[in-house]
Amino acid sequence: MVQARTYSSRPVLTVNLTALADNYKYLASKAGGTRIGASVKADAYGLGAGVVGRALYGAGCRIFFVAHAGEGKILRTSIGPKASVYVLSGNTPQDTAIFFGSKLKPVINSLTQARDWVRAIKDVNHAPRTALHFDTGMNRLGIPSEEVDVFATDQALIEALDVDLVMSHLACSGDAQHPLNETQLGQFKKISARMPMVPLSLANTGGIYLGAKYHFKLVRPGIGLYGGKITKNPDNEGVKPVVELHAPVLQIKTVKRGETIGYNAAFTAKKDMKIAIVSAGYADGLPVNLSGSDKRIVTSARLGKARVPVVGRVSMDYTILDITDYPGFVELGAKAVFFGEDLETQSAHSQMINYEVMTHLGARCRKIYVNE
Ligand SMILES: *Cc1c(COP(=O)(O)O)cnc(C)c1O
Repeated sequence: MVQARTYSSRPVLTVNLTALADNYKYLASKAGGTRIGASVKADAYGLGAGVVGRALYGAGCRIFFVAHAGEGKILRTSIGPKASVYVLSGNTPQDTAIFFGSKLKPVINSLTQARDWVRAIKDVNHAPRTALHFDTGMNRLGIPSEEVDVFATDQALIEALDVDLVMSHLACSGDAQHPLNETQLGQFKKISARMPMVPLSLANTGGIYLGAKYHFKLVRPGIGLYGGKITKNPDNEGVKPVVELHAPVLQIKTVKRGETIGYNAAFTAKKDMKIAIVSAGYADGLPVNLSGSDKRIVTSARLGKARVPVVGRVSMDYTILDITDYPGFVELGAKAVFFGEDLETQSAHSQMINYEVMTHLGARCRKIYVNE
């Protein structure tokens, strides 16, 4: 077997920053000119918050959402002092210094958080402003309905919080027919009318596709920026794929009819076969559920212009491809490609949502950022 060029065994995650910027512009146009606050929590869904944040900043984004103060600190270092960085989990006692040091804005999710924050900023000059997040029916994080009255009536509290955004979060935005969307919209209007006159925000990616009445002053897409599709009509979602997993071919061998392939001998060769062992496994975010067994071939990777089936169980570091019918020569180091335009189908075949698949991809892969 010739080895035509240099290559590493380490799998590569390619992140297409041009597609990312295009998706930013596409979602901005879908949101009809309202502002975009990018959701870059969980290391920008696994793609690398530093580089992704800077690319979005370059595309014009000046508002960002992370989950934790530590994520905000990393983002702040990368994007500089000008943009707003909101921390969705809000302030927690151990993280106060990070909020001040990195100028992070807490998203206040309860009266407890509100009072803790007011106490923490008592002697602080130029404390960060805050967002109020109301729970309008999702029953996850957010100010519960029984606390709304206090926020609506306690002037001193509201003044001290220095609120610059009022928001809520939709539970079912990917399903335009779901009645909870309207319910939450109604609740959000009712509650926000009792709050300070600041910009309002309700829509994540799915909310953008729900139409203008969900857009308010600011939308907060995450998955759509990264090329993920989430509605019942994915063909109507004009975002471009951003992420591909490239697994280099490490070895090629022949397998005799009747032999088995991989762990648990889950796949039996029904004929003489040629296989390629590629360097990416579940530790790189390739779901075990994509394994091909005697019962079922679940998926295929792209190799050059052809598709080659995954045979045997996906293991921690390696995955095996059937290249028996491959039209051409496979050289060592050639890249088998997963996800990209197959993200939705391969996620579905993994019994995972695309968000979940994406957040697992960044763990071990080397990330290569592509500018077209
Ligand atoms: C994650 C998140 C978003 C972004 O959601 P997508 O579905 O990825 O667009 C927006 N708002 C809140 C509160 C979130 O937790």
